[in-house]
Amino acid sequence: MRKLPLHTKIIIGLVAGLIFGIICIFSPIPSFIVIDYIKPFGTIFVNALKLIAMPLILASLIVGVTNLGDISKLSRLGLRTIGIYMVTTVIAITVGLILVNTLKPGKVISAETREELLNIYKGDVEQTQQNAIKEIREKEPLDPLIRIVPDNIFNSTSDNKNMLQVVFFSVIFGIALLQVPKNKAEPVKGFFEGLNDVILKIIDYIMMLAPYGVFALMAALIVEMAGDNPAKALEVLGALLMYGLTVLLGLAIMTFGVYPSILKTFAKARYTNFFKGIRDAQILAFSTSSSSATLPVTMECVEKNLNVPEKISSFVLPLGATINMDGTSLYQGVAAVFIAQALGMELTLANQLMIVVTATLASIGSAGVPGAGMVMLVIVLEAVGIPAAGLALIIAPDRILDMCRTVVNITGDSTVSVVMASTEGEEVVI
Ligand code: ASP
Repeated sequence: MRKLPLHTKIIIGLVAGLIFGIICIFSPIPSFIVIDYIKPFGTIFVNALKLIAMPLILASLIVGVTNLGDISKLSRLGLRTIGIYMVTTVIAITVGLILVNTLKPGKVISAETREELLNIYKGDVEQTQQNAIKEIREKEPLDPLIRIVPDNIFNSTSDNKNMLQVVFFSVIFGIALLQVPKNKAEPVKGFFEGLNDVILKIIDYIMMLAPYGVFALMAALIVEMAGDNPAKALEVLGALLMYGLTVLLGLAIMTFGVYPSILKTFAKARYTNFFKGIRDAQILAFSTSSSSATLPVTMECVEKNLNVPEKISSFVLPLGATINMDGTSLYQGVAAVFIAQALGMELTLANQLMIVVTATLASIGSAGVPGAGMVMLVIVLEAVGIPAAGLALIIAPDRILDMCRTVVNITGDSTVSVVMASTEGEEVVI
């Protein structure tokens, strides 16, 4: 085991966790053993990743901005990054809408299955709706803009949900650092460079735990999904197979079609090397369902393996982890139309365009945490007039789809960072 490369160990941890979980549900091992004594190691691993996300953004972005050395470069980078993020999001939703309108997975759900699902998941829908209300409560139209500027940076850094605020502060801090006299700026910059190196070292330590953390997360996932009645859980998943496959097909088209084409066109990058470079981040995104928790590893992979300079990745990736979620937006498009189909509603072209607009906004507003995409889906449904009770139809496979869409979310961010580096004239040798 010692000699194996880390990514092989992580994959072994993932597969072993899945197998162990399956063995547990079909053996007399009580599920509380996994939930109470194995899952906590997965939680500790995810916490450790989250622990360093904020200091990493702060240090690497301040260093990154000062290395850019020029404010006009920064504003060009910012505008282009946001622009390309919007474009990939709209492409993703369009792919999802084309698939769901062609394959029509909602039409294969029988009336009995529909009623059964609406009944089983009624409580979960209410909970999700409550969460959505909390997210959008008391919002004025420009609230998302207001929330970028924090009134207390120390408060902001104490909650991972506030990444965008920390990005904002770090950029301003970096710009100011460029404009104070050199003798004053140097020690401050040196401090953040040192801090950055220390955090990167800590990421290496955390990654050593990854095979065990991933094992625990996967075993717990299987046991929790099976619940008290594994046969019933499988039956429900089977009934929603067409829906799940439609989302997965869309995600596969993004991963193996859209991103490679973007990489080839704008960065002349070989996508096999690209995938090899980010595979650790992809496996972690899959096992944690959280692009925020994966962020430190995404940054490390993109910088070390894809040669994207820190001055670019430190800006593009944290921004992407908060506002660019191609996998989530694709899923929201498919899910909204699927629910409408299953409830026998006809959607007009205007409704579908509304889905493109609201799913773009909802994916920007989704936090990079497990299940956030489904909470924000409530907004898409409401905008189009689809009853939110229909969420009950898609809850069962959501965790699995969340894992896969999170992989696409971080793959999209990594693609854009390679493209940005390459269009900024950096030598991205991949
Ligand atoms: N789990 C996703 C992420 O962290 C968000 C979502 O689609 O629920 O990127």
